[in-house]
Amino acid sequence: MISFGLGIKIYDSLPQTIQGIIGKILAPIPLSWRGHRGVFNLAERISEPITIDELNEKESEALSELVRHAYENVPYYKDLFSEKKIDPRDVRCITDLQSLPILTKSDVRKNGSDLIASDAKKYSPGKVRTSGSTGEPLEFLIDQRTRLSEYAAEWRCILENDGELGGKTATFRGNYYRNHRKVGASWFRHALSGDLIFNTFSMDEETCRKYITKLRSFSPEIFRAFPSSLSHLARFVERGKINEHAIAFCSSEMMSEEMEDLIQTRICNTVINWYSQSEYVLSAGTCREGNMHINSEFGIIEVLDEEGKPVPDGTVGRLVGTSLTNFSQPFIRYDLDDLGAISETRCKCGRPHRILQRISGRHSDLIVTPDDRTLSTVQMQHWWKHQAVKEWDLDHFDWIQLIQTDICSFRILVVSKSGVEIQNYHENMEMALSDLWGTEVSVSIQDLDTMPHGEKWRFSKSEI
Ligand SMILES: [Zn+2]
Repeated sequence: MISFGLGIKIYDSLPQTIQGIIGKILAPIPLSWRGHRGVFNLAERISEPITIDELNEKESEALSELVRHAYENVPYYKDLFSEKKIDPRDVRCITDLQSLPILTKSDVRKNGSDLIASDAKKYSPGKVRTSGSTGEPLEFLIDQRTRLSEYAAEWRCILENDGELGGKTATFRGNYYRNHRKVGASWFRHALSGDLIFNTFSMDEETCRKYITKLRSFSPEIFRAFPSSLSHLARFVERGKINEHAIAFCSSEMMSEEMEDLIQTRICNTVINWYSQSEYVLSAGTCREGNMHINSEFGIIEVLDEEGKPVPDGTVGRLVGTSLTNFSQPFIRYDLDDLGAISETRCKCGRPHRILQRISGRHSDLIVTPDDRTLSTVQMQHWWKHQAVKEWDLDHFDWIQLIQTDICSFRILVVSKSGVEIQNYHENMEMALSDLWGTEVSVSIQDLDTMPHGEKWRFSKSEI
């Protein structure tokens, strides 16, 4: 008998057509019978009404447990608590940890194994590698419980917006990188998630029209989407919304008002804005009243000024999060690389969870290809990380920045790994981008000695 995890791995390695056939066969089986029962149970449990005092108590207990664990099992935190003279038994709320330095991505890179708990295996963690917003890869461990909590919090948000657990879902995200421009209009039913997954890399006008026809017959109850992809599709919807009663669950990118408006007027009435990170440290999602509530059962937020001091309610500051669920590699006072503000105002929806007022940062440039497709930064990062580096042998850079200087030309800045001769990869880089663009592009590559300080990894529209 193969394990569930291995089964998923095998499934994911199958050709997409086979994946789609299996997905279609399994479609009538409820998701709760396909490995989602744990997530659904947790989503129902956290949907029970709760008072603010009960919520604070839960947060405090979880923080104490995390800090005790970090002190006993994680070398980095043992040293830090000793150095700062923090007795883990005294920690009841996040302000008790204010003398701890903020943990940055660069600290995570530098301290590597010192940040990993000696008993990490107990938490069945999975290794995650991201290209991050700075272009430098970041590796970390995510506990099984952390994933479960994140998914449960997403479903709770959908429930609170009058959706149903396991509702019929269509996805328009960029992480199905094998869904590639060359494939054109394509979709497949995923066996595990049950989602109908659409290829977002080929969304020119003709493809969008085919997708709209398919969606009208499929009639999804939930759209899980990058806001850039779903709002791009919305531009081509001509008569009435696709399903006015559906919910658009938008995540992974900043959603502009224009995007939200397009989705709401042409796709469905309810648009959820979901905030999270690959590290799953802290998440928040909009309620029926349009306020973004923090899922404080699973993570604590702090908003700090430039000197690291907490700012008053309603003031924008740097967002710092502490995951309450990740024990294999704790994230305590972790820099989320985002700006936002917290409001203590009680929301009409009745939830006691604090409100994240607005988020700036992580603005995603939208790039328009010669055939009028729209690709977002996040989407291109997925393409680069999962497809380009493999298909065109380009995993030779510690850092990369692509700057679109003209519709079909790029200036590329890289920091090569040691011993790499950049001219050997010039042609492959051109082929990779030409393939994504659907037409020939020219590139010029410049090898830098070090990553420019403060520069963001990004695909930008114009020269900086
Ligand atoms: Zn609310």
